Amino acid sequence: MMTCREIAERTTDYLEGQLGFVARLGFRLHVGLCAGCRAWLEQIRTTVASLGELPDEPAPAPDVMRELQSRFQIWRETEPPRTESPD
Ligand SMILES: [Zn+2]
Repeated sequence: MMTCREIAERTTDYLEGQLGFVARLGFRLHVGLCAGCRAWLEQIRTTVASLGELPDEPAPAPDVMRELQSRFQIWRETEPPRTESPD
């Protein structure tokens, strides 16, 4: 029997169809018996549905993008990098 913690950790995998047969069975069994995990699963499902399909890769955080852009500008050396302070 999977624990509630395992259910929480594997919810995304379950929704993406990444779990193997046995794990999927254990997941469904637990969710069928555990009201807390059933509510959790519904919540995640609703969230995922409202976000649309999961992207293959998470989008870079805005500060990462800014860092990459400033590095790219330095690398080009055609114009000085912006002197905005990152913090
Ligand atoms: Zn549970």
